[in-house]
Amino acid sequence: MLNGTTAEIKPREALRINPAKTCQPVGAMYASLGIHGCMPHSHGSQGCCAYHRSALTRHLKEPVISTTSSFTEGSSVFGGSANLNQALQNIFTIYNPDIVAVHTTCLSEVIGDDIPSIVKNAREAGKVPEGKYVIHANTPSFVGSHITGFANMTKAMVTYLAEKTGEAKDQVNVIPGFVDPTDMREIKRLAGELKANIVLFPDTSDVLDTPQTGVYEMYPKGGTTIEQLKSTGDSIATIALGHFASRPAAESLEEKFGVPASVGELPIGVTATDDFIDALRNYARVEVPASIVQERGRLLDLISDMGQYLYGKRVAIAGDPDHVISLVRFLLELNMKPVFVISGSMGNHFENRVKELLKDAVPEAKVKQNADLFELHQWIKNEPVDLLIGNTHAKFMARAENDLPFVRFGWPITDRMAHRVFPTVGYRGASRLINDIINAFLDKKDRECPEETFELVQ
Ligand code: SF4
Repeated sequence: MLNGTTAEIKPREALRINPAKTCQPVGAMYASLGIHGCMPHSHGSQGCCAYHRSALTRHLKEPVISTTSSFTEGSSVFGGSANLNQALQNIFTIYNPDIVAVHTTCLSEVIGDDIPSIVKNAREAGKVPEGKYVIHANTPSFVGSHITGFANMTKAMVTYLAEKTGEAKDQVNVIPGFVDPTDMREIKRLAGELKANIVLFPDTSDVLDTPQTGVYEMYPKGGTTIEQLKSTGDSIATIALGHFASRPAAESLEEKFGVPASVGELPIGVTATDDFIDALRNYARVEVPASIVQERGRLLDLISDMGQYLYGKRVAIAGDPDHVISLVRFLLELNMKPVFVISGSMGNHFENRVKELLKDAVPEAKVKQNADLFELHQWIKNEPVDLLIGNTHAKFMARAENDLPFVRFGWPITDRMAHRVFPTVGYRGASRLINDIINAFLDKKDRECPEETFELVQ
């Protein structure tokens, strides 16, 4: 009631408060860094590029390289063609990459710069040396999220570079999705255990988690090589890990070259990892070795030992859609109850898939795409949960809710470092997640009852 009248409260539609996503170029820049010898190029103003680089650096704790078209007021009026021409000449002269991956920003998208034409003209004018490559992806940030940007740039790798020679290669393409370098390393380790020959693209391991040698290398040894990317058109199949981040590139390979696309989910948890191992086993025609079976068995042992601490706990989750879908699967395997599930990215598949997963175990769950952390906080205030899982930004909710047990998961994590070193994918990653969840509960108990000694019992 307002002044004696009934005021209709409309749901908030246009405004986002603490969005659970960031802008497309961040994802495109991250994907570009997964190509060996690549210089990402931000076609827009310096501020955008600086933000995208720092957003990645704050999560990865590594220097992130990128050049920029350095738009000024003049570019806004006359377009960014001259800037990109000059930039390409400077980049190849000064930094000498094998390939430049151009992504656009909001401003260049509003102007409507035709990147392929600009690059073609630059090449004809001799600003792109022979044998060097330039690819591009349109990444307007007024649609989609960093996940869309990652997907667009990964698809651009196929559009520009993949070839079909007619000579089939005994290899399987694997597209890992927007996961950490350590996750990409773990996917390669699992494939190695299986003795499956894969081309992982993009691959930021050994690019954004390089050892300290005292010598800075602008183009470290990691990253998918251009030759590998070219060869993806001759592969047996493509396993895309994630509907949102990886599917478009896999489908493009299928459409262009007839390479069958298998779109799965991020291998987080038991069954999602089983699915990945099974798909790889089938396509690569290999046997699952005892080492993998034992890894899986150790995870199952951990779950059965710790299940009593997890059973029936109500969980709120915020994160990127591919991550969250697999995490919901995993929490159900742990007999937990994901009651509130949001993603800042858009896409009906997210809501449909999560609701399908939860329809029997947690039919009362609230699931929302294109949502924000403010809304999730309102839900938690109205109906408290036992555990919150999300990125660093979600910690303020945990603090506000009487120090709610909180597990950092996904992107970005700027105030912890485990994600740099320990994967969340695979059976080992699932063990790490269980450890994080149990620790969150026990840390809370320790704080509440400092005099008591808690011990985990089997
Ligand atoms: S949202 Fe647009 S203007 Fe803002 S940083 Fe991202 S690309 Fe730049």
